Amino acid sequence: MKNIIALVGFFCVFGSTVFSGDISPVRIPPSFDVPKSQNKRAVFVDMKTADYRITYYVKNKEASAASILHFFMPESGLPIIDLVTEPNSVYLNGVVVETKEIDLPNGGKVRVLDREVLRGPHQVLIQHKIRHGITFNRRGVKQAFFMSDLDDRSFLEQYLPTSWEYDQYAMKLKVEVKDGRTKQKVFTNGRILRQTNTEWEIEFPEYFNSSSPYFHITAASAMMDEEFEYYSSNGRIIPIQIYKKRSEVKVDLRKFKKKTIDILDNLENDFGPFPHQKVVIYGMNMPGGMEFSGAIFTGSGALSHELFHSYFARGVLPDSGNSGWMDEAFARWRDHQFRGVNELTHLKANLANRGEYVRATTRLAYKEGANFLGYLSYLFETQQNPNSLKDFLREFLTLRMHQTVNSEILLQDLERYFQQSLHPLFRDYVYGGVEKGQELPESSDDLEDWSESIMHLKLNRKLLESYL
Ligand SMILES: [Zn+2]
Repeated sequence: MKNIIALVGFFCVFGSTVFSGDISPVRIPPSFDVPKSQNKRAVFVDMKTADYRITYYVKNKEASAASILHFFMPESGLPIIDLVTEPNSVYLNGVVVETKEIDLPNGGKVRVLDREVLRGPHQVLIQHKIRHGITFNRRGVKQAFFMSDLDDRSFLEQYLPTSWEYDQYAMKLKVEVKDGRTKQKVFTNGRILRQTNTEWEIEFPEYFNSSSPYFHITAASAMMDEEFEYYSSNGRIIPIQIYKKRSEVKVDLRKFKKKTIDILDNLENDFGPFPHQKVVIYGMNMPGGMEFSGAIFTGSGALSHELFHSYFARGVLPDSGNSGWMDEAFARWRDHQFRGVNELTHLKANLANRGEYVRATTRLAYKEGANFLGYLSYLFETQQNPNSLKDFLREFLTLRMHQTVNSEILLQDLERYFQQSLHPLFRDYVYGGVEKGQELPESSDDLEDWSESIMHLKLNRKLLESYL
C-alpha cells in the first residue's frame, strides 16, 4: 500500500512538472555580447525544422550541403547556428549574409550569422562543403556522422548547421551520389522514406537533437549486415540491423545478435519498452563505442553500456555538456550492477557547474559520477525506502523520455521521489562544493582518473576514416 501511495504521489508531482516540449527560455543558454562588436548580442535559436540536402560528387571528390533551417529568435541579435566549416554562401530571409566564428564566454568557438534580426520566426539557407568524416575513391563515397560527447563541438555541427543539445527539432536529410560506380548503402536511425540506387530521403523523429542522428553511407560490398525483428514488451515490432565491415573478421554478427537480444530483454525488463523506432548497430573491434538515438557503433564489450544510452543520453537527452555526466554516471552505475557503495571516494566534484556554454561531458562522470550514484543508492537503501534508486531511474526515464534534462531536474525529481533534501550532496558532488551558478575553475577536473575504463573513444581523423 505504501508503495502505491508513494507512486501515485510521484506521478502527480511528475505530471505537474513535465516539460511541455516547447523550449522554455530558461533552458536556452543565455545570449552574450559578441566580442569586439558594438553592443551586439549572440542569441541561441529555437530551431523548428531543418531540411538538409547533401550531394556527393564522386568524380570531383566533393560533398556539397544545402540546408534550409526554420528557426525562432527568442530575442533580437545575431542568430547562433553552429557549423564548424566556413559556409560558401548564406541567405538569411532571402538576403545574403556573412557568418563568423566568435569566442564563447567560457572558451571554445561558435558560428553566428552576422546580421541582427528581431525576435520572431526566420529562415536561412546555408551552403557549404562537408570535409569531415568523409573519404572518396574513384568508385564512390564513404561518410559517417560519427560524434563525441567528450570533446568540444563534436556533435552534428561537425557536418551540418545546427543548434545545440538543448534544442529538439524535425530534421530531414536528402542524399544523392553523382557519378558513382559502385552500389552504396545507407545505415541510419532515421526513417528512410524513399530510396533509389543513388538517392535517399530520410526523416528523423522530432525529439532528436544535435547528438541524435546516425548516418553512414558506404560501399555496399564492404559491409555485411544482419536484419531481424525484436518483439518489444509493449507489442511493437522493432527492426534491428547489425552490420560490420566485411574485412573485420574479429566481429561475429551472430554473437552480436544474440547479445543484443539479451541486452534489450534486460533493458526492457528494467526500464520499459525500447524508446526508439529501430536499432542500428555498427559492430567493431574496439574497446568502447558511441551512442545515438537507437543507434550505436561499438565493440562487443561496450554493447550493453551503449544500448543503455538509447534510454539515457539519447532517449532522455542531456541539454548541455553540464548535463552529460548524468547519463554516463547512470550507465557506469548500471555497468556495476547498480551496486550501492557506502562511501564517497572523493571530497567534492564539479560535474555540472562548468560554465553556461560547455558542450563536452566531464570525464569525471565515469568514476566520481558513478560513485556518487552508488552512494545515493546505498543511502536510500539504508533509510529503508520502499523504492530504490533503480526504481526511481525507471520512473525518471519513462516520464522524461524524449525530453531534455539537466542536473536541476534530476535533483528536483529525486527530492520529490525520496521526500528529502539532497541539495547539500548535489552542491558538493555535482556542483563542485559551491552553489549552482557560482563558477569553479575547470581545474577541478584534476580528480580525473583514467584507471577507470572509458567507454567512449576519442576518434582521431585516422581512426575515424578507418571505420567509414
Ligand atoms: Zn557512456
